[in-house]
Amino acid sequence: MDIVVHNIENFVRRRSRRPLVSIVAPCYNEEAGLPEFHRRMTDAVRQVAGDDYEIIFVNDGSRDRTRDVIETLLAADSHVVAINLSRNFGHQAALTAGLKACSGARVLIIDADLQDPPELLAAMMRQVDAGADVVYGQRSSREGETRFKILTAKLFYRLLRSLVDVDIPADTGDFRLITRRVLDQLNSMPEHHRFIRGMVSWIGLKQVPLDYERDARFAGTTHYPVLKMLRFAVDAVTGFSVTPLRTASFLGVALGLGSLMMVIYTLGSWLSGSTVDGWTSLTTIVLIIGSAQLITLGVIGEYLGRLYMESKQRPLFIVDNVVSRRDSAPVRYES
Ligand code: UDP
Ligand code: MG
Repeated sequence: MDIVVHNIENFVRRRSRRPLVSIVAPCYNEEAGLPEFHRRMTDAVRQVAGDDYEIIFVNDGSRDRTRDVIETLLAADSHVVAINLSRNFGHQAALTAGLKACSGARVLIIDADLQDPPELLAAMMRQVDAGADVVYGQRSSREGETRFKILTAKLFYRLLRSLVDVDIPADTGDFRLITRRVLDQLNSMPEHHRFIRGMVSWIGLKQVPLDYERDARFAGTTHYPVLKMLRFAVDAVTGFSVTPLRTASFLGVALGLGSLMMVIYTLGSWLSGSTVDGWTSLTTIVLIIGSAQLITLGVIGEYLGRLYMESKQRPLFIVDNVVSRRDSAPVRYES
């Protein structure tokens, strides 16, 4: 018999026992790949945790049959938990929902499209056994992605690292195994514009990389088109750095010095009586200063907009329901 509750807190309260490993996979329109994901993930987790695990699928308002597919998996496997969000909230919000629902001592964050190989869990577990708090997958290659995506991703991580004080490793996604204490810290961060891989880095403790080759999607296509990627990049930068806000001051100083020289030149021309012409230089100056002002206003706008959204304090996502099986009894007790 299924248990259906309507918020994550209730679900967590009902879980009296904690499994060794929680798997969290956000899913948006992944109907074609999910059964294969479930099969490979189950094989992989059984090898390291026996029967002591849960697999949480967060259905992020999918428009295809993802919800039904998860329900079918749930009917056949008591380790499965389904969280259905009320609509599409985006990858990071869906992941946040899943993370709030985990009761495991260790949590694996993984994409449901099989781009992150589930079989790496064993190697990650060994690193955590050896004392790591976070083991993050670092891509040494990316199968089946466009040159454009690879190049922009590379550029983005380099730019981010140059702007941000926190050591956010390059070429990583959210694919990682984290310990309960890291998860608790992560769950205590209420911010709306989330860049979870950066937030995990920000927490610190012992974080180690694990090189892997990122596979091609098993089925379907990416849900991160260019515009969404760009928005995600701005979230990342604004979430971790105020350096862009300072560009206004830098520009101001640089242009100010430039204009000082212009003033001297103008005064000189005035004194020498040759003060006509100058349309070209005047137009150029107006254009440069105008665009510098607009750019810096835009930057301020990005931060102000985020401040505004945060100030509303809305929940990050709305849960339609959480479905789990009555006989899903994770076996490990924790005092
Ligand atoms: N995803 C989601 N909500 C979204 C977009 C994506 O839950 O609005 C999930 C998706 O199903 C996948 C993961 O997030 O499991 C990563 O998305 P995707 O594979 O599209 O991104 P990419 O790997 O191309 O960066
Ligand atoms: Mg993917």
